[in-house]
Amino acid sequence: MKDRNFLDTVMEFEQQLESLQGQFHALKEFVALMMEEHQSLQQENFLLRQRLDEIHAAEEAAVKQSELNAKEVSRLDIGEGYDNLARLYQEGFHVCHVHFGSSRKGEDCLFCLSFLNKQNG
Ligand SMILES: [Zn+2]
Repeated sequence: MKDRNFLDTVMEFEQQLESLQGQFHALKEFVALMMEEHQSLQQENFLLRQRLDEIHAAEEAAVKQSELNAKEVSRLDIGEGYDNLARLYQEGFHVCHVHFGSSRKGEDCLFCLSFLNKQNG
């Protein structure tokens, strides 16, 4: 009777061990799966960050380029405006605010000259 009980207990214990082993195996598979998923998420995250950096760099470059273009355009505008006024003065007309557009009658005008000097600087 006692021996029978002991054998039962041992068999029961063996079943428990087998069950535990099964659970442990499932747990190992789960961890492996999680590690795989973690790795692919890390990879995806890395690629997305890289792509984001590229987009930011492209945006910055575009902003800088448009700033450069705007500067270039306004520089050309100013240069062209000055050239036109200087030519007008050379052709004998006032470009100063005081007498703008009227003939200098062959005389230099200090207003015109100082205005052109300011524009040129
Ligand atoms: Zn003048």
